[in-house]
Order: sequence, then structure tokens, then C-alpha cells
Amino acid sequence: MKEELIWALVFDYPHVFVGARRKYENASFQGISCGEGWEPIVRWLSAGIERLIEQEPEDEREFYRCIEVRERFGGLEFYMNDATPEMARLVRVAVSQSFSMCEFCGNPGALRQDGRRGAKTLCDSCRGKVVVLPLTGQVPAPLV
Ligand SMILES: [Zn+2]
Repeated sequence: MKEELIWALVFDYPHVFVGARRKYENASFQGISCGEGWEPIVRWLSAGIERLIEQEPEDEREFYRCIEVRERFGGLEFYMNDATPEMARLVRVAVSQSFSMCEFCGNPGALRQDGRRGAKTLCDSCRGKVVVLPLTGQVPAPLV
């Protein structure tokens, strides 16, 4: 995701991404790393969680900060330091949406597993164009 999109998210949802501005010894912010096609999902999710955090007591809000947003095994992962059941429900909705939206362009997509690339959720047109080799540690076991 382009840096300006990341900073727009950090700016628009200050409670969710407080870790991007403040340092924590444990559970420090690891960044946002996924394709731009999922930016609307991440934005929708961040907006929902931001509203929920604002309903929490002021001295507890930092517990609900986001730690990392990334792609793993073809789907969105949105790690939080802590989450209420409502926050966790929103995360599950967003993750399930990510499996039907191309990570790179945002068009309707499907989970593909093409050879060494590992699982990726892509549309038909990005499938042939986008070459992303996952890190060794992230290569998922072959689907049986
Ligand atoms: Zn695409």
C-alpha cells in the first residue's frame, strides 16, 4: 500500500493507530502491509473500530490499538493488542470480505494458489500480472 494511503489511515483513525505515533515496549506497531485493493476494507474496519474505541473509558482506549495489518495466506490480517467482542466481530467481517476482493486492484477476486506464489486473493486480470513471492516463513502448506 502506498505510504500516503497508510498515513491517511493513521491520521483519520488516531485511536486505532495510536501505535504509529507512540512507542510501546510490548506490542509495538508493525505497520500496514497489504495491497491497495484492500484499502477500502481496512478503512471501513478502522472506522468501525475507531467508533467502538471512543465508547471505551479514556484510560483504556490504548489497549485496543492496532498492532499490524497485513496479508497472510491470501486474506487480510488485522492484529490488535486487545479487542472487545464487537471489535472482533468487525475484524471477522472484514477478513471474510478480503477473500472475495482482489488485494491489488479491489475488483471481485477469489483465493488462488498458483505454484510457488502461495495463496493470494486476486481477480482474473491481476492473476497473470502480479508476481508476489511470499517470504519463506509465510509459504502456506499446500491445500489438500
Ligand atoms: Zn485485480
